[in-house]
Amino acid sequence: MRLYHTLGIEKSLFRGNTWLGNDLDGKNNTLLHTFCCAGFCRWLQWRPMTITSPVGPGPFRAVLAAALVFLLFSCSSETLRPRVDEAYLLGTVVRITVYTDEAEALLEPVFARVADIEARMSTSERDYDRTELLDVNRAPAGTATPVSADTFEVLKEALRYSELSDGAFEVTIWPLVRLWDIGSGHESVPSEGDIARAVSLVDYRKLSLNDDGSVTLPEEGMGVDVGAIAKGYAADEGARILREGGVKHAILDFGGNILVIGSKPDGTPWRVGVQRPDARRNEYIGIVYTSGRTVVTSGPYERFFVEDGVRYHHILDPATGYPSRNGLEQVTVVGDRSIDADALSTTGYVMGLPAGFTLIEELDGVEAVFVTEDHRVYVTSGLKGPDGRSRFELVDEEFRLMGPPEG
Ligand code: ADP
Ligand code: MG
Repeated sequence: MRLYHTLGIEKSLFRGNTWLGNDLDGKNNTLLHTFCCAGFCRWLQWRPMTITSPVGPGPFRAVLAAALVFLLFSCSSETLRPRVDEAYLLGTVVRITVYTDEAEALLEPVFARVADIEARMSTSERDYDRTELLDVNRAPAGTATPVSADTFEVLKEALRYSELSDGAFEVTIWPLVRLWDIGSGHESVPSEGDIARAVSLVDYRKLSLNDDGSVTLPEEGMGVDVGAIAKGYAADEGARILREGGVKHAILDFGGNILVIGSKPDGTPWRVGVQRPDARRNEYIGIVYTSGRTVVTSGPYERFFVEDGVRYHHILDPATGYPSRNGLEQVTVVGDRSIDADALSTTGYVMGLPAGFTLIEELDGVEAVFVTEDHRVYVTSGLKGPDGRSRFELVDEEFRLMGPPEG
């Protein structure tokens, strides 16, 4: 479901978009370079050819030469020409910034791929009459439903994280997601009986991913949901397409999911802001410095409703059937693949401290920042040192950096 779609730096800039993601560098560089390159270069590129100089050919040539020198330094390098495109997909604004001249040709297939992933894997009955996963969830108990290789792969990863977390991450969470229907605009807290019934239908151990690429659920009312992992998969796929197209520097921003390709065009790491949970967007607790990696945040503030003064959000604890509540405000995961970071940020958020932190610390290639409601910040070891591939810097003085969590 694409609500709007624009291509080109001018549109994005002059519409005065708010930057919905945490990509501090996308924001700064794009604004800076958009002015430098798109505006000024274009002005310099075209104006000298169309104006007749009032001061004669000599000075005019000097101006032209100066302009050409400027062009060489500022515009000849493709890395200095950020192009931005965005679309509403996977329930969020997907914004992609690439540093290349061929943005139009490259970005179109990326958005098409993300839309394709959404159309296969969404479980929203409001947005879709049919998807592969709705077919799985509606199939009579015990029947095998064939799905595409894509969908099978995402289910396999979701099942792996369900096993790894002992069901804190739950690929069969659908009965609960459907019952709460958070984000629908007409939510209310379900009855205890309905919640208990839905909880009894949630069990990843009963999901069969068959060798022939089909999926079986053994009980009526069971269902799968990949809302906590599909954005990561889509970001990985988008990045793959861009890399194959020769892109060396880019930011893919899928709401709280950021993936960067390469370093900044000047060779330094990108700076990805870890958003302050209780504040407006664009206020940051800290910054992750990283190249070629992904930074994904899960928290209760993306989708929620308030009833009788209590906030009910969209990350559910499969054990209780209620929104997860364990003193955590948010979890940010840094990794190489966005599908892993997406799954683990939800997993860490539900598992809480210290279990979720310990799990991520034990896994290779992933790091995390856990933030509690009382403003304590726990950072895994790989994000601390100057030698690490990524580094976290706390910038908000209202938050306190802690040692490893106890327990
Ligand atoms: P966001 O979608 O805001 O990035 P998450 O990645 O944490 O946040 O995914 C939340 C979504 O995942 C929910 O909207 C729901 O579809 C699904 N979900 C909710 N609770 C769980 C859970 N315990 N395990 C797996 N998926 C979940
Ligand atoms: Mg997630």
